[in-house]
Amino acid sequence: MIPPAFEYHRPTDIAGALGVIAEHGDEARVIAGGHSLIPMMKLRMVEIAHLIDLQDVADLKGISVGETIRIGAMVTQHDLINDEALAEAAPILREAALQIADPQVRYCGTVGGNVANGDPGNDMPGLMQCLDATFTLVGPDGARDVPAREFYEAAYTTTREDDEILTAISFARPAGGYAYEKQKRKIGDYATAAAAVLIGKDAGKITSASIAMTNLSDIPIFSEAAGDALTGTDGTGEALDKAVAAMLADIDPTEDNRGPVEFKKHVAGVILRRAIARAVDRA
Ligand SMILES: Cc1cc2nc3c(=O)[nH]c(=O)nc-3n(C[C@H](O)[C@H](O)[C@H](O)COP(=O)(O)OP(=O)(O)OC[C@H]3O[C@@H](n4cnc5c(N)ncnc54)[C@H](O)[C@@H]3O)c2cc1C
Repeated sequence: MIPPAFEYHRPTDIAGALGVIAEHGDEARVIAGGHSLIPMMKLRMVEIAHLIDLQDVADLKGISVGETIRIGAMVTQHDLINDEALAEAAPILREAALQIADPQVRYCGTVGGNVANGDPGNDMPGLMQCLDATFTLVGPDGARDVPAREFYEAAYTTTREDDEILTAISFARPAGGYAYEKQKRKIGDYATAAAAVLIGKDAGKITSASIAMTNLSDIPIFSEAAGDALTGTDGTGEALDKAVAAMLADIDPTEDNRGPVEFKKHVAGVILRRAIARAVDRA
């Protein structure tokens, strides 16, 4: 289908984008890679009178890697996969991004669009919760930081105000082992279930564990209890069973064309076990 007519704006800085939002209010919406928004416009699930293309806003691009890692909102999943410094500092990002869609989608789809969208099927929100990332939002009253673990309220609903733009994502350089494990029906599909796991280990014992799950509720699920169940253990046997049980108590999947609830819970358990085993092994 063809979307309804809209006016196209192409600002070159954040102030310009905020200016269009201030002028047109609810009738304006930013577009990043367009790989979530354009399909929704074509299906006429959303109607936008003023589309603000962010691709010429240089301040939204770039990756900086130090003790803190900062990723501009307009960094594409392709850029993220191909940034060697980032892959060395935080390899879980490349591992996760390679499991998103296909190369064509990854050339256009941005990290900012992926986390801002609020689609429970998107892979980056859970990953960013696992990394304990912070989202920087800029609006008419200036900038504010929101923890990824507090950003999601319901499907397609976040704490971002309509007049705010997400500009960057930051997180501390992760240490230890990592794994991003995703079960999907076919290449290019969204997750039936996905797990992001970071493990810190010392002298054979787990000292820290961060676990987040994707597409198993209407928001990404950071399961603190699952991580706690692993801490102080070697991450196998009873500890692993307890971690999986804690995660299952936190998720709330619904039946859809990816399967009934019991099947999704089963898949969630299987992929979390695999992710924990790989992360522990790498730690
Ligand atoms: C066939 C197909 C398969 C896919 N499979 C997967 C998958 O397996 N996993 C996955 O994670 N994703 C998947 N995607 C989604 C893809 O990764 C999207 O590109 C991504 O979710 C959204 O990024 P975008 O840059 O295209 O955002 P857009 O579509 O441009 O925007 C999405 C929403 O976010 C808002 N937005 C964008 N940028 C900002 C910003 N900086 N500040 C505030 N709001 C903003 C827009 O207004 C819009 O509401 C798939 C897409 C397709 C077409």
